[in-house]
Amino acid sequence: MNSPQIELNVRKVLEKLPCDIKLVAAAKTRTPEEIREAIKGGVKIIGENYVQEAEEAFAVIGHEVRWHFIGHLQKNKVKKAVDIFDMIETVDSINLAGEINRRCEAASKVIDVLVEVNSGREPGKFGVFPEKAAKLAEDIAAFPNIRVMGLMTMGPFSGDPEDARSYFTETRKLFEEIKTAGITGVEMRYLSMGMTNSYKVAIEEGANIVRIGTKIFGERE
Ligand SMILES: *Cc1c(COP(=O)(O)O)cnc(C)c1O
Repeated sequence: MNSPQIELNVRKVLEKLPCDIKLVAAAKTRTPEEIREAIKGGVKIIGENYVQEAEEAFAVIGHEVRWHFIGHLQKNKVKKAVDIFDMIETVDSINLAGEINRRCEAASKVIDVLVEVNSGREPGKFGVFPEKAAKLAEDIAAFPNIRVMGLMTMGPFSGDPEDARSYFTETRKLFEEIKTAGITGVEMRYLSMGMTNSYKVAIEEGANIVRIGTKIFGERE
């Protein structure tokens, strides 16, 4: 997609986005130049799925924006990830959290994370099942170099955003339950749900972070 169009797309999204909702521009497969155009349009947070792609973009753009990791993080990529990202939205195991903590400690850094919830209980998908989320949040919060700041979910993918609604509703309920439980060290501030086709529904159901790629950058090849 040509550059002025990307900038315009961002402006159109931001115009209609309530100001308490954070926009993450999901930038997988996009070039640093495309990301730059999105920043010109007003994007403040870049979401990346792959550490290597993020490294290339981060080398060009740096701390001008915040960086959220939104893909599946492999343990051997954690060291690089903690150098780049301000938030890891996809923590779904104590093992991964332990490695993040270890690498953050070495880098004298405290990192924000979200617990990824597999709200559709889909086999083979990442994220912790909803009934395990509170316990995982509590366990992770014990790590001194990690701050648990909320939940993230994808939900089962279908073309129709209404199909996602019940999963967003369930995740919102879980978010409120964990918040009410007042678990030491666990803050429920961010609820990251919704992509290009579903973010409006996600906002109706309580999301305060939305992750949008296609609507900003165009269809992926
Ligand atoms: C790609 C991606 C998005 C954005 O998807 P679009 O449909 O292009 O808006 C959001 N979240 C995650 C985790 C993604 O991988």
